[in-house]
Amino acid sequence: MSFQVFGIPVSRGVAIGRAVLVASSRVDVAHYFIAPDQVEAEIQRAVRARDEVAHELTALRDDLPEDAPHELAALLDVHLMLLHDEALTGATKQWIVDRHYNAEWALSAQLEVLARQFDEMEDEYLRERKADLEQVVERILGALAREQGKAPVDASSVVQRDFAGEDPLLLVAADIAPADMMQFKRSVFHGFITDIGGKTSHTAIVARSMDIPAVVGTREASRLIRQDDWVIIDGDLGAVIVNPSPIVLEEYRFRQRQSELERARLARLRHTPAVTLDGERVELQANIELPADAAAAVDAGATGVGLFRSEFLFMNRNGELPSEDEQFEAYRAAVEAMKGMPVTIRTVDIGADKPLDRMSASELRHEHVLNPAMGLRAIRWSLAEPSMFRQQLRAIYRASAYGKLRLLIPMVAHLSEIRQVSETLKRVQQQLTDAGQAFTPVELGVMIEIPAAAVMLPLLLPHVDFISIGTNDLIQYTLAIDRADEAVAHLYDPWHPAVLQLIASSIGQARAAGKSVSVCGEMAGDPAFTDLLLAMGLRNFSMHPSQIPSVKQRVLRADASRLAEALPQLLESPDPQRTAALLLTSKRGNTPMQ
Ligand code: PEP
Ligand code: MG
Repeated sequence: MSFQVFGIPVSRGVAIGRAVLVASSRVDVAHYFIAPDQVEAEIQRAVRARDEVAHELTALRDDLPEDAPHELAALLDVHLMLLHDEALTGATKQWIVDRHYNAEWALSAQLEVLARQFDEMEDEYLRERKADLEQVVERILGALAREQGKAPVDASSVVQRDFAGEDPLLLVAADIAPADMMQFKRSVFHGFITDIGGKTSHTAIVARSMDIPAVVGTREASRLIRQDDWVIIDGDLGAVIVNPSPIVLEEYRFRQRQSELERARLARLRHTPAVTLDGERVELQANIELPADAAAAVDAGATGVGLFRSEFLFMNRNGELPSEDEQFEAYRAAVEAMKGMPVTIRTVDIGADKPLDRMSASELRHEHVLNPAMGLRAIRWSLAEPSMFRQQLRAIYRASAYGKLRLLIPMVAHLSEIRQVSETLKRVQQQLTDAGQAFTPVELGVMIEIPAAAVMLPLLLPHVDFISIGTNDLIQYTLAIDRADEAVAHLYDPWHPAVLQLIASSIGQARAAGKSVSVCGEMAGDPAFTDLLLAMGLRNFSMHPSQIPSVKQRVLRADASRLAEALPQLLESPDPQRTAALLLTSKRGNTPMQ
């Protein structure tokens, strides 16, 4: 039966493929294709893991003390029975044979299928056996992980190909933590659908950086969609069409081809400098998460990295922090890949929906920290962990010897924070000098993402070389809307007059003070805001590499001075979006694309 689910469109385009359902708690399970000649070995891995668990369970049952409740022995028997049930073992093997899934993926895929069947059972006793099945599968996954040395799968080792002749796969999950998204970065999925999340939740941001269609905040997609269902993701509309009719499928295949053609057309702008019709040069820089992303930035024609979200180096490490040398290598790799263009490294922004270890954002929110978005996050966390912070700063300074580096501090709200950073920087420079380590001067910038920072900008500006406006958080904190919460996603409004006032005044004040200013939040990469930001005087945008071509097209068609004329009226409007549609469109230059 065909049906639709609606959510929030967070990454554009159309993806068509088969659903792969992954439970949130198992989303970090390695998902990769094995080579055809590895099928037998992979089946043996699964069998060995199962046998190990059988051994464990049997030993547990045999060693039960005399006075142990007899339900316990019965429970272990149920687990042993489930472990050997053909519905689990036979079908898991089948996923490996038919689809070439690795053992962990095959096992969790089959768990999803069986979990559904349990959910639909009338008998309450049987329904409750789902929890037992989950525990059994967890044990097998544990045994597989032990065999692999517990290390989470390295994203770069994932087979980067589609299984020959197979259908594209789309991931469906209740939630995906940003750390787990990183695992998928170079993986097999062509699109994402999640139940929770908002437009600028980090899951959405990573999906955009991967340039694949995604819809989040669907609330119940993971409950309604079944393993292997045919699914269309309409990333422009925020719609998910399940088991589409042939006509709908054909229509979407057509749209898919059209958008590929459009992409190819825009890619031709790669070497065209971003200059407005009235001759204003605009820097279009890239947001990256890992040094490996720098190649895509160069490919897309970025003129630098405006935001390197260094916290992603800290994820997927089972809570361990990267060493100074590891960080240095990563920063150096990014700087070298950018071939002399500037790279802005933001110090670690851990917290809120980017937890450090494998804890999911929702766990963090509900169980561990009352309100992580307002808690020990970003620079607050760095200042609370001085040796970790110095380590990161030393790594950044050491990498400065290899190219042009800028340092960006997230979530600044207090002058004292800048003072503490400056003192730490002096100490770090001294340490490096004493150790004979080379470094060059590094410009210091702060992110303007808390309204307090925007309001007190005249007091902040004398202490920094540049500012970068993080609109994702600036909107969240100005409007008191959790950016990751789909329940209030409709109120997350970049066009809100208060938000526009803060952005416009920050850009204006920085320019007047002769300091460089950029926007690195998602607004910078959305062509719907390009005219508006140009009108505000912005000349430096930072976005996902995939967004550069369409923003560049806007810049090439814009007349910045004419757009600026509309700004006062726009900022006074109670409905800026409507006013912008009326005013900016009429001010836009009409010369066709160059
Ligand atoms: C922002 O808040 O706009 C920003 C760029 O930082 P992040 O999205 O990583 O919080
Ligand atoms: Mg931010």
